[in-house]
Amino acid sequence: MIVFPAVIAGRIERKSITVSTNKHQGPPAGEEIILLKMGEMVLKGLNRRSFEDKLQANIYRRLNNLGQFRVYTRQSTTYVEPMTDACDMDGAWEALTKVFGVVGLSRARACEKDKDAILAAAREYLDDKLSAARTFKVETKRADKTFPMTSIQLSQYVGGELDELYPDLKVDVHNPELTVHIEVRDYAAFVHADPEPGAGGLPVGMGGRALSLLSGGIDSPVASWMIAKRGVIVDMIHYYSYPYTSPEAKEKVLELARLLVPYTGKQCVHVVPFTKIQEELRRSCPEELFTILMRRFMMRIACRVAEKNGIHALVTGESVGQVASQTLDAMVCTDAVCTVPVLRPLVGMDKEEIVRISRRIGTFETSILPYEDCCTVFTPKHPRTKPKLEELEEAPLLASLGVASREEATPERFIQVLELRGVTVAPRPGAEEEMDCTLDFCLDPEITDELLVFRFTPELELYDISHES
Ligand code: ATP
Ligand code: MG
Repeated sequence: MIVFPAVIAGRIERKSITVSTNKHQGPPAGEEIILLKMGEMVLKGLNRRSFEDKLQANIYRRLNNLGQFRVYTRQSTTYVEPMTDACDMDGAWEALTKVFGVVGLSRARACEKDKDAILAAAREYLDDKLSAARTFKVETKRADKTFPMTSIQLSQYVGGELDELYPDLKVDVHNPELTVHIEVRDYAAFVHADPEPGAGGLPVGMGGRALSLLSGGIDSPVASWMIAKRGVIVDMIHYYSYPYTSPEAKEKVLELARLLVPYTGKQCVHVVPFTKIQEELRRSCPEELFTILMRRFMMRIACRVAEKNGIHALVTGESVGQVASQTLDAMVCTDAVCTVPVLRPLVGMDKEEIVRISRRIGTFETSILPYEDCCTVFTPKHPRTKPKLEELEEAPLLASLGVASREEATPERFIQVLELRGVTVAPRPGAEEEMDCTLDFCLDPEITDELLVFRFTPELELYDISHES
């Protein structure tokens, strides 16, 4: 059993979350609130309630530092109401645009359920927009069927009045610049302009947990974001090769993780010192296979970290054909060492499309800072683009035993080399036969390749990163 040392840094303090269940009678007239439209989670049938609860809990966490809010869900809409004047509504809006599970957001004014109160609220609250637009229409949703006018009657009334009040404004029901939305709900009416697009996806925490291989590049933060968007909690793992890569390179990766926190919520980054493995591969393996062999080690370590933390999948920022190690043959070779599935959300995307997302989510400027990644350390001049699994499995072993052919890779030689490196080996009876079958770093099940991986991995650092800290 190999013990995995870990340094825990920057622990966050857990704050308890209270989900409001009281019978709330709606916001007072005149108050500004934020309305959130839920996305595909409304199609979740019997599970819908658990998606709504998760979304609500996630919202409470994101608003934790911005004041006291009441959050509740009615009729596919989540209401976010400030409970005191000290609430930071702009900060809340900004935070809520990054919450997965929300497809649209509107800032809305609550008012009495009365046609003239609704008209007055629309006029006052949307005055800037009504003055700036050339065309408009009014759209009403009437969830409260006891309201004395139909939706069409209310839209016609408010639309007609606004048309007279703003002489430069024309009604255009097909393609208006501005839509005045009226919602007559159970406890109040609301007016608002067109909703802004939300982050989409599903609430983080509903889709299990994945471990994302985060480099300092453009692609892997986008890949992590895309998987988190599907409701998956994403932890990160990063390999660094000090002194070949600088402390700034590591800090840059932690900063990328921090930039993702408003989307992903609380997040851990496992930082793996990778120098010894890279030096060993450079010393002992054919140059053109260096990159692919190194990537197999990354995957092995990530799988071990995933298994130890109850994580069920890895995520990478690979896209077919982008570089030598991302050909289909190369992916077959890296996947061969994986014990959990590898998700590659960018697999069919062009760089341009990835860059567009990277800019939108705010990671691009940090990603292009000029610090080296360990992947570019010892990069071969001519990396093999179509590696074969058999040669990869043999090459490190033959090289590390200092022999030229498989025939010379005898159990005696293997044990001799391990002992030279300070590993005590006591072969079990029958181990000799097993040594003759497939070759990876070693063949004795008691001395798995992980032994070599973890001998070269003296210390794993774990950073707990969170917007709450
Ligand atoms: P990126 O822009 O994400 O760095 P890339 O185009 O540079 O990707 P590679 O360097 O081949 O591609 O890396 C492919 C994938 O391997 C990355 O998207 C990332 O998931 C993972 N990876 C690369 N380097 C590291 C690293 N130092 N630590 C953790 N994962 C890494
Ligand atoms: Mg990279």
